[in-house]
Parts: sequence; structure tokens; C-alpha cells
Amino acid sequence: MTEPKEHLADWLRDAHAMEVQSATMMKKLVDRLEHYPELRGRIQRHIQETEQQAARLEGCMKRHGEKTSTVKDIAGKFTATIQGLSGVVVEDEVVKGHLAHYVFEHYEIASYRVLIAAAELAGDSETRSVCETNLREEEEMAAWLADNLPATTQKFLQRDLADLDAKR
Ligand code: MG
Ligand code: FE
Repeated sequence: MTEPKEHLADWLRDAHAMEVQSATMMKKLVDRLEHYPELRGRIQRHIQETEQQAARLEGCMKRHGEKTSTVKDIAGKFTATIQGLSGVVVEDEVVKGHLAHYVFEHYEIASYRVLIAAAELAGDSETRSVCETNLREEEEMAAWLADNLPATTQKFLQRDLADLDAKR
């Protein structure tokens, strides 16, 4: 038998690792995005949001008895799923990277939906509210990426046709 609170604590750790990895991945990406300033700007904003998301999750983890040192230790560890997704987001070509980033945001969205349901059942209203805040930011980012995928695609095609550096 495992208490819902124990699962919740595990999933908070997973989400925290996901956010730390997500920030690392976007920082790698943003430095290389030369020719797509709007995409770059939106990702820069989401890096800041992501760092706040990780900090909010750390607050929840501490309330679940996680020590600060543990929070730091596990920040570098992440699941195979996140590792697999993060590789493609920093893809060499902007259209593939944009597409993969859209998928990644939906992984985050699903993770927060799980956490919200678990927090609700475990009676942890503060975690629930933190995860709802994080979820909204992921949904906004996913919507932006969806809205701007056509522009990225067409700009890539036009630049490549004109024999300009189009990849990123
Ligand atoms: Mg996030
Ligand atoms: Fe995100």
C-alpha cells in the first residue's frame, strides 16, 4: 500500500526535474536561434517562466519534507522520456525543433494535469494551486507555438529558397 501523498511527492520530484531540464534545453536552443527573433524572444520569456515554475515546485517539495540539498541533487536527473524529448527540441533545424518543442509543452501539460488530480485527492490545495499556475503557462506556451508554427515553417522555406542560412 502506498499513500497518495507519497506518489504526489514522487511526481513533484519528476516535474521539478522536467522543469530544470526544460530550462537547460531552452537555454541551449536560444543561443543558436539567429534568424527567428520572435521565436527566440518567446522562448527567452518561457525560460524565465520555467525557472519560476521550478522554484514553485521546490516550495511544494519542501512542504512534503524534501530537504534543500535533495532538491539540488535530483535537479540533474531526469526520466528517459524527458531526455528523449529534450534531444529533439534542440534539433539542428528550426522547423523540427519548433515541432518537438510543441510536443514537449504537451508532455508538461499532461504532467501538471496528473499532479493537479493527485494534489486534489491528497488534499494538498497549495500544490494544486501551484500546478494550476504552471499549467496555465504551459498552455499559453503551447498555444503560442501552435499559432507560430506556420510562420516558422514558411520563413524557413523562403530563406532556404533564397539560399540564405535557414536552419536556425
Ligand atoms: Mg515548464
Ligand atoms: Fe513549458
